[in-house]
This record gives sequence, C-alpha cells and structure tokens, in this order.
Amino acid sequence: MTSFREFAQTCEVIEGTSGSLDMTALVAELLGKVTPEELPVVTHFVMGEIFPAWSSEEIGVGAGILYNALAKSAGISVSDIKELVRETGDIGKTAASALKKVSSGQATFSAFMDESNDISILEVFERFRDISRSSGKGSQSSKIKHLQYLFNSASPEEVSYIARLAVEELRIGVGEGIVRDAISLAFDVPSEEVERAFMLTNDLGLVAVTAREGGRDAVLSLGLELNRPIRMMLAQITPSLDAAVSDLGTAAIEWKFDGARVQIHKEGDNITLFSRRLENITESLPDIVEAVRENVDAESAILDGEAVAIDANGRPRAFQDILKRFRRKYDVQSTAREIPLILNLFDIMYLNGEELLDLPLLQRRAKLEGCVKNGDSINVDTQYLTDDPEKILEIYNDALKAGHEGVMIKNPESPYSPGKRGKNWLKKKPVMETLDLVVIGAEWGYGRRTSFLGSYALACHDPDTGRFLPVGRVATGFSDEQLAELTELFSDLIVVESGTEVEIKPEVIFEVAFEEIQKSVNYESGYALRFPRLVNVRSDKSVEDVETIGRLEEMYLVQRERN
Ligand code: AMP
Repeated sequence: MTSFREFAQTCEVIEGTSGSLDMTALVAELLGKVTPEELPVVTHFVMGEIFPAWSSEEIGVGAGILYNALAKSAGISVSDIKELVRETGDIGKTAASALKKVSSGQATFSAFMDESNDISILEVFERFRDISRSSGKGSQSSKIKHLQYLFNSASPEEVSYIARLAVEELRIGVGEGIVRDAISLAFDVPSEEVERAFMLTNDLGLVAVTAREGGRDAVLSLGLELNRPIRMMLAQITPSLDAAVSDLGTAAIEWKFDGARVQIHKEGDNITLFSRRLENITESLPDIVEAVRENVDAESAILDGEAVAIDANGRPRAFQDILKRFRRKYDVQSTAREIPLILNLFDIMYLNGEELLDLPLLQRRAKLEGCVKNGDSINVDTQYLTDDPEKILEIYNDALKAGHEGVMIKNPESPYSPGKRGKNWLKKKPVMETLDLVVIGAEWGYGRRTSFLGSYALACHDPDTGRFLPVGRVATGFSDEQLAELTELFSDLIVVESGTEVEIKPEVIFEVAFEEIQKSVNYESGYALRFPRLVNVRSDKSVEDVETIGRLEEMYLVQRERN
C-alpha cells in the first residue's frame, strides 16, 4: 500500500523539475513502485484526473464546495480562505497554509502521528469516488464532509495536492505525453505502441496496468471495445485545393458538413452515441438511435459521422441549435421535433466483430455503404475520387451553396488513425481561419457590465509540458445575453479571484477569429492575436482540441510568407 504522502512528495519534486525527460523519469519511477491496484489511480492522479476521460463519473467539486470544506476544516471563514487564495494565487498553497494554522494549535494531522496512520492513495481515491456519487438534495454538504475528512487526515504537504486534485488541477506540468512516455519507460513498451493503445482505449490507467502485467504483447492486443469510445480521427487545414492535391494526388472528396461529430456504437439493438468530447449523448438523441437501429444492417459496428440540425428546407441550422439537441436532458422528444437532425455517416471502424482501423479508407467506405440504408435522418453522402483541383472546387462550391462548411480531402489509402491530426484528412473552409483556444481567466466588467465576466484570457496548449500558454484576451463578439450565460457557466470554474481578475479552470473552448498572429513578449506563448473576436463557444470540443503552440507558430510563419 502506498501512502498519499509518497505521491505528494513525488508531485513536489516534479513541480520543481523543468525538463520533460526528468519529469518522465520521475513519473516512470512512481508508476513502477505502486501496487497493481494503485497503478490506474496514480496514472490518472499524476495528470490531475480522477476518472478516465471516457467515464461518466465526475467529482463535481467547484470553488464553492472546496472553499467551504477548507474553511470548516481550518475553523476559519470562507472569506478568510478567499483572502488566502488572493494572497497565494493557488488553491494548493491556500489549503496548506490554512491547515498549517490548525496543526500548530491542535494535533489533527497524521504528520504528528505514527506514519502507519498515513492516508493511502486508494483511500483518497475512494473518498473522491464517494464525492462523485453524492447526488441530489444534501449532496453539497456530503461532498464537503468527505473533503473535510480528507483534509483532517492529511499533513499540510498532502492537503495541498488533495485540494488541487479535488478540482482536477494538479499543476505539476504532467500531461498525457509525459505519462505515455513514462509508461513506455517503466514497463519497456515502445512509446508509439503505448500511444496507439491509449487512442483505442482512452484510458492510460488501463494501458499502464496492461503494460505492467503483460508487457508489449498485451499492450498490442488492447483493441477496440464496443461501448467504450475511441478518439476521433482529426483533420488538418490545407491552405489551398492545389496544395491538397499535390500532397495527396488522387483524393477522396466529401462535403464538410456543418454539424457536430458523433461516434456510434451498435451492439445488436443496443445503440450508444458519443460526442466529440467522448461524452455519452445517447439519451439526448433518440431519433438518431432509432435511425441507426432501423437503417444500419450490422450485428455490431462502430461508425463515425456528423449530425446536422436541419431547417424546413433541409438546410443546416446554426451550430447553437445542434448543441441544444446534444445537451438536452429533459423534453428530449419535443426538442427532437423542433430541431430535427440528419446523421451523415462517413466512416466505419468496426463491423461484426472485425476491427477495420487498418483497412484503407476506400475499403472501409465500401463496408460502410454495404451496411447503411439511406433514410430521412441517416445518410452516407457521395464521396468523389479525383485529382483535379477544378472538380474539387466545384464540389466545394456545391457544399457551400448547400450551407455546409467546405470539403474534406482524404487519402484513399489511409487507415483510421484515432486521435491523430495528420495529412490523411485535410479540410478546406472559406472563412478566415479560426483558432480553438481554452479560456483560463476573465475579468469582472464595469459600468453596465459589473455583474458579468468578460475580457476572457485565452491559451494554447504546450504538448511537451501539458501546460496552457496565454495568447491574449478576447473581449468582443459577445451579446449581453451571451455574457450572462457565460458568467453562469464560468462561475463554477473559478479557481482564484483577485480584485476584478479571475482565474478559470481550463475547460471551455472558444473558437476565435482574428486579423493576424503577432510575436509578443507580453504573453508566455510568445504570440498574441490581433483583433480577436469570439465566433463560437465550442461546447462540443474539449481541452484536447486546443490549438498547440506548434500550430500557432506554423500559422505565424505561413502568414509571414503570404504578406
Ligand atoms: P474542424 O472541426 O474544423 O477541426 O473540422 C473537422 C470536423 O469536421 C470533424 O471533427 C467533423 O466533426 C467535421 N466533418 C464534417 N464533415 C466531415 C467529413 N465528411 N469527414 C470528416 N469530418 C467531417
């Protein structure tokens, strides 16, 4: 049994380390020494996660609950906690400092007891699971009690990490890339194989356990499983149709539908739908479930497609309308009548017990066409094969005329690569490029807008460290109504408040348009956006979709070439 103290000590060392190789070695050492039962938990904890991404379990602890639990454990007021947060700028330090005061007065901490009283990693996890399962009336106070128990059973160095974990913000700079390499190092499995297993299972905890128990062979045999979502294959932007043709030669051209991604798992009559963020959205889309049941002739299948909300003329409606459907938990049937959807299927990854990922696109396509009967709300649209940019331009214009986004230009020979954004799928849209950035902060407004959060701080992702790097702020493009909605949305994600400045847990993605990307010393990313404006709040996307620093750099260089 490993104590949480050991985990906290390792986190502290990692926090003080800057090179990613050193960090990987420290994580590998940690993964190598915990028990098999602890391994999946530690794998997630070290990334600041409690449950795997695909799991529907969520801890549901925001600043309100955490401040309350800390205040109660330390015997001080919530405003004292807020004051400490302002002073330290960090919830972990706040927790340590608030509870240190208690420990000097009364010996509540195990630090003053025998080491055998140390709380274990699994006990912390079990408490977190209890917290996630507290629901309904009284759940708030039950969550607070569980947290209080944890705070009062741990030493100041541990409470700091318990507090950070409770809000899933460990801040030690360990992301999926480092954990993947650490698993590879600890259990001697090539990093690409760990990565592939991760993309198929979506669970690094499972991959770590498999690697440890069965080595490379076991990792290689990890595959698709029905009802467990796999990462979606992603597309890269192509600057022009000519460039796409010179990259791919003869290509498979499809409309780029203006909708939201859906992954469909069919097992007999049991249909499960996942969103791009891999959330289970089956309950919200009964019409799609029915259409798949009726029109997909397969005992079992995993399919990929885009759900489009259509108006009376069959044209795509605004993106917001699709989100209304995806998020709906009640009045589902009437919303389905109000906003009908059509599912455009474009890929198949699994059919009747056979994994199809490594088949070339054209062969997967034939299997898809073979098992889907087009209907009112399900469609496998035309795919064109051509190397003629003129022909592609024609298809592209038709797609735009029909109200869609542009075209997808795909390599006909390519496998389905889960989670990969590469040259095998290229996308071309007419609008000026937008960036998907994560909101990491905001500011309370003034005048008429004092009760609204505005001026949102945006960040891109650094895959090497797992950190989010600021690229500027967006303050235009919002209606009052939208600001009110966003203020409510962000109120649960506030990590620290200081004056009118608010730090926000990175979870919400803004799609932002801009005039150009500039070099800047004012932001940690080294870049800033000129005239950024909000295009959409992308609640279908998650932090994995956030633009990388490499991508910003690339866009900056391309822009410099063009001007
Ligand atoms: P973007 O969201 O701009 O990165 O573009 C990629 C997205 O386009 C995918 O995630 C899908 O949701 C969507 N899409 C629409 N039509 C297609 C298609 N024919 N093939 C693949 N993706 C498509």
